[in-house]
Amino acid sequence: MIKEGNSLPAFDFEKLGVYTGKVYDKKPKFCSHCGFDRVGGIEVLGACNDSLLWECCCCGLRMLKFSKERTLDYLNKARDVFFDKGGKRRYYA
Ligand SMILES: [Zn+2]
Repeated sequence: MIKEGNSLPAFDFEKLGVYTGKVYDKKPKFCSHCGFDRVGGIEVLGACNDSLLWECCCCGLRMLKFSKERTLDYLNKARDVFFDKGGKRRYYA
């Protein structure tokens, strides 16, 4: 199949459990899907030093903390990060 232009295919945020483009720059007090009042942050090692996404503690819905473009930028930073679980047992400084 030949694609026009040279843009990359759009990243499928639904694979991350993110179904809307709404951005919550602060942790939401309630889940936008089920209304549960406990929402946690998901941190991605190597991506950024804080939560990258929000996740409902009941239904697991994930919500954006940053724009989709910025989220992808952070995820791309972590692309080459790996952990050798068969190697050293201490990972803490
Ligand atoms: Zn929920």
